[in-house]
Amino acid sequence: MRQPLVAGNWKMHGSLATNQRLLDKAGLAGLSGARFAVCVPFPYLFQVGQALAGTAIAWGAQTLSEHDSGAYTGEVAGPMLRDFGCRYVLAGHSERRSIYGERDPQVAAKFVAAQRAGLTPILCVGETLAERESGATEAVVGSQLDAVIDAAGAKALAEAVVAYEPVWAIGTGKTATPGQAQAVHEFIRARVAKAAGDALASGLAILYGGSVKASNAAELFAQRDVDGGLIGGASLVADDFVAICRAAAAKGH
Ligand code: PEP
Repeated sequence: MRQPLVAGNWKMHGSLATNQRLLDKAGLAGLSGARFAVCVPFPYLFQVGQALAGTAIAWGAQTLSEHDSGAYTGEVAGPMLRDFGCRYVLAGHSERRSIYGERDPQVAAKFVAAQRAGLTPILCVGETLAERESGATEAVVGSQLDAVIDAAGAKALAEAVVAYEPVWAIGTGKTATPGQAQAVHEFIRARVAKAAGDALASGLAILYGGSVKASNAAELFAQRDVDGGLIGGASLVADDFVAICRAAAAKGH
């Protein structure tokens, strides 16, 4: 059985003081049945690693360079993230795609760089509202997946994590219905199965992201192909994040 995963995305939020308060309250001790992680801004990796070492919560970053080292001012490489104990890194978050112009080939190169460094990439895919309304959801998500399959291979994708994040649901308070989420998750698994085979595809963790809250997590996670969530805003509120983690842990038992 797939073990659910809940990953928090702190985005560009936090300070040493507020992080410490959040970490102190994150109390996931005793929770089992799922995996938990937080993806935090680069400068706080050391603080978060110190606080979470030896706990059930892994940590990671929100992007990385596609290069391992070199003259790339301002960039952070996968091996540097490993140095700080990161297990996960996001690749292709919609804010990276829309604000920083990351396109499929660069996202795929970052995915490959993450695995090369021994990190587990969480590949974010998803359609805009206009794309959904024009019936292009599967075409968009399919080509985002194919770019990574072409660059990394289907097996590599199946060993990573995919997060379906409809752009219209991120940070907007609008959540996909459980049925909408399940339909796209099923499509993603089928696409990976076609390329990598049923056995590998059935082990792939596919997270839902987009305004997941304590109040809607359980019904989303109850869907057959929804294996947990990528959580933005609610990951900054300790009680909400813990409640979402509990919902995932309940599914995993
Ligand atoms: C995200 O940042 O990936 C996200 C899903 O944000 P939110 O939960 O705030 O919609």
